[in-house]
Amino acid sequence: MTMKVIKTVAEMREWTLSRKKAGRQVGLVPTMGFLHEGHLSLIRRAKQESDAVVVSIYVNPTQFAPGEDLDRYPRDFKRDQQLCLQEGVDAVFYPDEMYAPDHKTYVVTEELSKILCGVSRPDHFRGVTTIVAKLFNSVQPDTAVFGQKDAQQALIIKRMAADLNFGINIIISPIIRENDGLAVSSRNKYLTPEQRQQAAVLYRSLRAAEQEYEQGNVDPVSIKNKMKEIISEQPLAKIDYIALVNADTLTRPKPGTNDVLAALAVFFDKTRLIDNTILKKRR
Ligand code: AMP
Repeated sequence: MTMKVIKTVAEMREWTLSRKKAGRQVGLVPTMGFLHEGHLSLIRRAKQESDAVVVSIYVNPTQFAPGEDLDRYPRDFKRDQQLCLQEGVDAVFYPDEMYAPDHKTYVVTEELSKILCGVSRPDHFRGVTTIVAKLFNSVQPDTAVFGQKDAQQALIIKRMAADLNFGINIIISPIIRENDGLAVSSRNKYLTPEQRQQAAVLYRSLRAAEQEYEQGNVDPVSIKNKMKEIISEQPLAKIDYIALVNADTLTRPKPGTNDVLAALAVFFDKTRLIDNTILKKRR
């Protein structure tokens, strides 16, 4: 089996077209590279759902604000290529650049992009929806797989794909975690050993929320306070936000009637980590 590395949009389109002509279903896994177990789980899911899998690797500048980590974002294409080969990926879409110098068009998913992570990263989701729309148009897959790790992103992309009639089946795949519960992320690499150890508190606070909910506490304020208390025990952790929202709409939750998304963002120095869990509707 050979794996193709494709650098241009024109070649990418041709590749997909030839697969589709042969009756194949094409699945896309968009990533920013520096692949880890989380990414690999999406690739495995895409392989189950489609006959030919494309992994895109592109660190998208429009989703980083000035002063964020665009320049130091970890990159290792050789290693990524090897991992994709091992996973049986059919093509890696690895463009050098996705934006023309005179690029002027953005895709915005209103409202959903302004809350939660959108408060501290106001242009972030505009960058995400724009690049994902460009990747959808470049690869033209039947299916695309995203991670629940970025819960707000997943919902926004589902909304965008429906609103703009992409006709692409969007699949959301579960969060992959380290042994101590920390969600696997390329950004974990930035953490000092001490920060890394304390970062396990994100998952502990989410587990506590799950336990509270299971035991019948459906008061979002009291659950959030409990989470805050747990996180505050770690001196290096600085809470950006903790939110309990309707898992489908990201609006005020009606606990007991809908699934509730417990989501949080926590800084360790300049490194911002996000995580979430779904508190299941009571039966
Ligand atoms: P990134 O390369 O960080 O932009 O992530 C690419 C895709 O991988 C996104 O759909 C993420 O939600 C997903 N992803 C990242 N980390 C994880 C994880 N720990 N578990 C599952 N999916 C993940």
